[in-house]
Amino acid sequence: MPAQCTLNIDKASYKGSIPIHTGHFIDGKWCDPKFATILLGSSADVDMAVQAAQKAYKTSWGLKILGSERGRLLNRLADLLERDKDHFSAIESLNIGKPFHFCRTFEIPKAIECLRYFGGWADKNQGKLVPTDETKLAYTRHEPYGVVGQIIPWNFPIPMLAWKIAPALATGNCVVLKPSEIAPLSTMKFAELIEEAGFPPGVVNIVNGYGNVSFDCTGIYYILPSLGHTVGQAITEHPGIAKVAFTGSTAVGRKILEAAAKSNLKSVTLELGGKSPIIVFDDCDLEQTVKWAVNGIFINAGQVCVAGSRIFVQDTIYEAFMREFTPIAAGLAGTAGDPFQPITQHGPQVSQTHFDRVMSYIESGKSEGATVHLGGARHGTEGYFIQPTIFTDCMPDMKIVKEEIFGPVVAIMKFGTETEVIEAANATTYGLACCVFSGDVSRAIRVAHQLENGSAFVNSAMVTEPGAPFGGFKQSGIGREQGEYALATYTQVKAVHVNLSMRI
Ligand code: NAD
Repeated sequence: MPAQCTLNIDKASYKGSIPIHTGHFIDGKWCDPKFATILLGSSADVDMAVQAAQKAYKTSWGLKILGSERGRLLNRLADLLERDKDHFSAIESLNIGKPFHFCRTFEIPKAIECLRYFGGWADKNQGKLVPTDETKLAYTRHEPYGVVGQIIPWNFPIPMLAWKIAPALATGNCVVLKPSEIAPLSTMKFAELIEEAGFPPGVVNIVNGYGNVSFDCTGIYYILPSLGHTVGQAITEHPGIAKVAFTGSTAVGRKILEAAAKSNLKSVTLELGGKSPIIVFDDCDLEQTVKWAVNGIFINAGQVCVAGSRIFVQDTIYEAFMREFTPIAAGLAGTAGDPFQPITQHGPQVSQTHFDRVMSYIESGKSEGATVHLGGARHGTEGYFIQPTIFTDCMPDMKIVKEEIFGPVVAIMKFGTETEVIEAANATTYGLACCVFSGDVSRAIRVAHQLENGSAFVNSAMVTEPGAPFGGFKQSGIGREQGEYALATYTQVKAVHVNLSMRI
């Protein structure tokens, strides 16, 4: 019997038992890792998954079935996720401490809408007729790659999974996916829904790895030292995988690109880190702006790729902004705690390693001379909670201004003019997202157009749409997820030339 465990939960907002398979999901079956006695996959497991995916692609997926059938299955998957959204939220709360209410009302619904959105595209991704003279017919076809590899992070496990598999499956590809070793449980539960929805075996394969995670089924994790990047690396190097889609840090993104280049020159899309600016002009609606800005940086305890970790406030309203922003940020700390309590909004950092990393950034901010305006320390004595932290008196060359922290830490800076703030906001190697707040929409749009980011939010912060492309400029990524643009990253265009005259 392949590895399985049951999570028993008796909490304020959720009571129940959830059985979860903890092995791999390959070729429609649950199986234990081939060359490991613990929950760690190997390149042999990836190889098995690729073979299953290749077989499924040739026999039951790709262009073997109608797009409308692929769409039906994606919609069925969305319905099942909706049915089980409490289970999934509870699993995330146990696995990575996310507030249950946040998962249930925001995170899981975002994944559901993505599955439905791409379900709708599955029979509409058509090529074009190319204008020619009457002797010729020329047209394009949007063909799937075949088998695609997908590697996802831990910060939004189910939305990241949906963003990856939905466009891949809609366009006819088969998938070999590796969840983060820190947050694998919800992905394994999701694989059960793939089975239940009726996807042919081998269309979606999930292989767990690298970092060797063992757990005692009560939700307490012991992360043992990494045994090497076995599964992720095997996916990026595998010659049977034609494209790899990765979401994670910029440092690992570079390695993915190198491995893809050295192997079979596979196509690569990368969704990487960010250091997103939030720009607040003095004619904004201050009350609403402050609420958006608090969400923009502190949601998910700052563990968000688009986190607005640099806030630029026009000097004429700086004091007023700080008066409004500070108590709301401070209030979040009071909600930290049991993720199953409905009041909890501020969750922990995901692991001791990540907690230490964020705390070291806070220490660097202090030692480089920034002022701790709020927080700047651990919250409480248990868990990996960090106080919402505001730094002021920040200089452009400080690490807290330049580098992605991925925690509840924000640098707030003053600016005078539009030109000055555009230059300061663009002074980063990242280019994922930006927000502009102003009552003058023409100005907000003018500024948004000049900011070097893949997404620009005007008078709002970081709430994406399944129909709007998402991705980075500069070192925040290559390619786009979501929206029609994502379809292009999962298909190759073939031009077909037909000589109608038969003559040379
Ligand atoms: P990470 O880069 O450490 O890991 C991401 C995934 O890559 C994990 O599954 C990991 O096991 C795998 N991996 C690690 N080394 C690998 C290798 N050499 N080859 C192949 N796979 C490898 O990132 P993380 O800590 O899980 O997530 C946080 C990062 O993700 C942040 O930098 C954040 O900005 C980024 N992120 C970006 C987006 C986006 O859409 N742009 C979304 C969410 C998170």
